Amino acid sequence: MKIDIQNIYKQYGDFIALDNINLSIEEGKLIALLGPSGSGKTTLLRIIGGMELPDCGMITFNGMNLTNQSVMDRRIGFVFQNYALFRHMTVFDNIAFGLKVRKRKERPSKKEIANKVQELIERVQLNGMEKRYPAQLSGGQRQRVALARALAIEPQVLLLDEPFGALDAKVRLELRRWLRQFHNELGITTIFVTHDQEEALEVADQIVVMQQGTIKQIGEPKQVYHNPDNPFVYQFIGKVNRLPGRILNGKMKIGSLELDIPTYSGYKDEEAVGFVRPHEVEIHQLPVKGAAFKAQVAALQLAGPMVKVELACKNTNETIDAEVPHNLYEHAPFSPGQSVYLGFKNISVFVGKDRVEVHPGEKRLKRSVALL
Ligand code: ATP
Repeated sequence: MKIDIQNIYKQYGDFIALDNINLSIEEGKLIALLGPSGSGKTTLLRIIGGMELPDCGMITFNGMNLTNQSVMDRRIGFVFQNYALFRHMTVFDNIAFGLKVRKRKERPSKKEIANKVQELIERVQLNGMEKRYPAQLSGGQRQRVALARALAIEPQVLLLDEPFGALDAKVRLELRRWLRQFHNELGITTIFVTHDQEEALEVADQIVVMQQGTIKQIGEPKQVYHNPDNPFVYQFIGKVNRLPGRILNGKMKIGSLELDIPTYSGYKDEEAVGFVRPHEVEIHQLPVKGAAFKAQVAALQLAGPMVKVELACKNTNETIDAEVPHNLYEHAPFSPGQSVYLGFKNISVFVGKDRVEVHPGEKRLKRSVALL
């Protein structure tokens, strides 16, 4: 099912919850709505599902306008964070519910319902648990029952609102991988709300990053991670160091550091912000060309796939986080309190709506326009 969302506005009193949302979702895709609390993710999901009406705008499924169509008619499967299972019903009855409450004419026979439920139980790997009640299941198992119940009605679209939000970290990880595989097998157009960037990066075909009722970027995980359109997305997705400075005659000044950015030679004196990912920070024991940022090692964490280093920069009073491969660290180890020099493999510099990527080592420049 292809979904088109056009010019959707939603206001609660004076508060604008959604401000001109436009989004096109291709058939069979798995889409994550990602954003901080209050950014409008759930409101948008509820509007797509027909549980909330927009103030204006239009939603189409395969080109058909559904904006004023009821929840039942949209054939949508919902899964919420808090399971929302019927506590007094067994696993079997919970999954069968959507089929049993159909109008007599459309209702499958008892045998057909039993077969369908059994098939779903196998699909969500809950064999042998048919007669259990929700209280007798783990959180992860309950959420799989909720998904089987949503699938029983053979939905055209699946909407999941923080489906793994109430689960502990390990179960969350297992279930999101399972969801990815499950989606690959079934191919139902699926939209899920999350505020967990790792979850979105790992599971989604496309990520819609939201802030204050607007979409800040739409893209594949690698696009939003490696090519954020604006400072908000840079800071929201993945770890990043934010280095405020000024652009002056083609140079960016960050404390005592000066970077050549000829693309910005038109700016006389403007505020600018540089963004550097921790793995793009190079640590040198002696000053070298292009590594002019003096810093002191504040803390080291050697456990994990990379050596994590916290650096205190004297000239800017900023803390910079770096991640160094173990083999590089072991080749020239350093310790807390030691003075070092920092170089950056890549800095994305934003001035107003413009963005330039600077690779100080390579003198390579790439210009793009940010969507602010
Ligand atoms: P969270 O991750 O915390 O669930 P969200 O991104 O899903 O956040 P929404 O639930 O869509 O955000 O809410 C967006 C904004 O709209 C919030 O500021 C919220 O307080 C407001 N809001 C949502 N529903 C209503 C309502 N029925 N009446 C008034 N304000 C509402």
